[in-house]
Amino acid sequence: GSKTIETINPCNGESLKTYPYQTDSEINDKLKLADTIFADWKTKSINERTELLDSLYNNLSHSKEKLSELITLEMGKPITESKAEIDKCLLLIQFYKKNAEQFLADVLIETEAHESYISYDPLGCILAVMPWNYPFWQVFRFAIPTLTAGNVALLKHASNVTGCALAIEELFLDSGFPKGAFQTLLTNHDTIEKIIGNTIVKAVTLTGSEKAGKSIAATAGKHLKKTLLELGGNNACIILKDADLDKYLDTIVKARMQNSGQSCIAAKRFLVEETIYDEFLEKFTEKIKALNYNNPLDDKTNMSCLARPDLAETLEQQVSKSIDKGAKVHYGNTRDKAYYQPTILTNISEDMDVFKEETFGPLAPIMKVKNLDEAIKLASKSSFGLGTMIFTEDYKTASKKVLDIEDGAYFINELVKSDPRLPFGGTKASGYGRELSKEGILEFVNKKTVFIN
Ligand code: NDP
Repeated sequence: GSKTIETINPCNGESLKTYPYQTDSEINDKLKLADTIFADWKTKSINERTELLDSLYNNLSHSKEKLSELITLEMGKPITESKAEIDKCLLLIQFYKKNAEQFLADVLIETEAHESYISYDPLGCILAVMPWNYPFWQVFRFAIPTLTAGNVALLKHASNVTGCALAIEELFLDSGFPKGAFQTLLTNHDTIEKIIGNTIVKAVTLTGSEKAGKSIAATAGKHLKKTLLELGGNNACIILKDADLDKYLDTIVKARMQNSGQSCIAAKRFLVEETIYDEFLEKFTEKIKALNYNNPLDDKTNMSCLARPDLAETLEQQVSKSIDKGAKVHYGNTRDKAYYQPTILTNISEDMDVFKEETFGPLAPIMKVKNLDEAIKLASKSSFGLGTMIFTEDYKTASKKVLDIEDGAYFINELVKSDPRLPFGGTKASGYGRELSKEGILEFVNKKTVFIN
């Protein structure tokens, strides 16, 4: 295979930069360095480690303009969304700066011992395989808690965002993190699978497709290493007859169309109660038509190209196969290279690709349902389990359905979204483990029992 990675602006096809793969010996040196640095990094107090988060915060916020532009150039999202992504990383840094010490404090447990407690110790070097859709946020969400807990990190980022990967490594270095605490690997899948087998690597986290998850988890399993998987989603968005559309329509549109539709937790199936169906379809369509679908570097743009032309082709095929099974194009469905027009499909049935599979782009399949019970039943007819959202003024009845939701999240009158304060992750084919909050920082620690008699 090729020995270089070329990054390409997906909106105009222009080449941005070419990076050589790291050699085997360079990668070995990185692994050894990670191991050496860990021996020292783990002995630091949590405060010594969180102090560096202040300089990281400052450096990231000073470079916000430049880094947002890099995100947009490499994966095409609108510049305002790139800036919002950086802001969210800043929030995350503040959150762990404030709470890490409390999350990682020893927990005393009364037994017959003189003293017994849980000590949350770091594991060592953690490998992260990360995707391109939120090239900063996905990495920070892993790295901030993981490094703060005393681990060191290796990043294998999606190849189309290699510039972001290297910029993140530089940020950690410039902020005073020891060289080797956070390192970026530029290599192919085969080498990554070999690295998983290396004794220096203690665990693996992956955000990406189901296919990548199965492959990485199988390799890690062979070597008995822990994995955390944050894979695809096929979230249902239920709209009941009493939903306040005037208040929530923008939220509902954002739930599907943010990041040009390329989000694991996006609303991917709209289940609308029959008595509000026509009104919803009309108002939703108006909003979709009004989206500013343009050059992503323009501040007014809120829809853009997808991150690679093949992603738009895949979406087009999913739509076309669903049309063969009876789906109707209500709006949209044209493609030009990586640009796929925001599209609304109706007449959806359960056997269609757009119902069964994850659709990673600006596509809204809309289905009519009889009532809440039918909606919940259809919502859970998915191999994925990231989240369900529901819009209704009767939040009391909706909240009685918590137990019926098999997903990792249930949002009433809000889009499913991640928040540093709340755990984030899925069930079923969406993966396992949790990121963010206290749950997230405790994923890559040795929960050690200490018993002093
Ligand atoms: P992938 O899952 O292939 O890519 C995600 C990351 O995994 C990339 O860094 C990729 O590297 C890496 N990767 C994939 N397979 C392996 C492997 N065997 N060994 C090592 N690294 C691996 O996603 P795609 O970009 O192909 O997107 C396809 C679909 O996946 C999307 O349409 C969407 O449905 C889903 N997806 C979901 C995401 C989420 O947020 N949950 C994010 C991205 C995609 P490389 O770039 O070098 O191939």
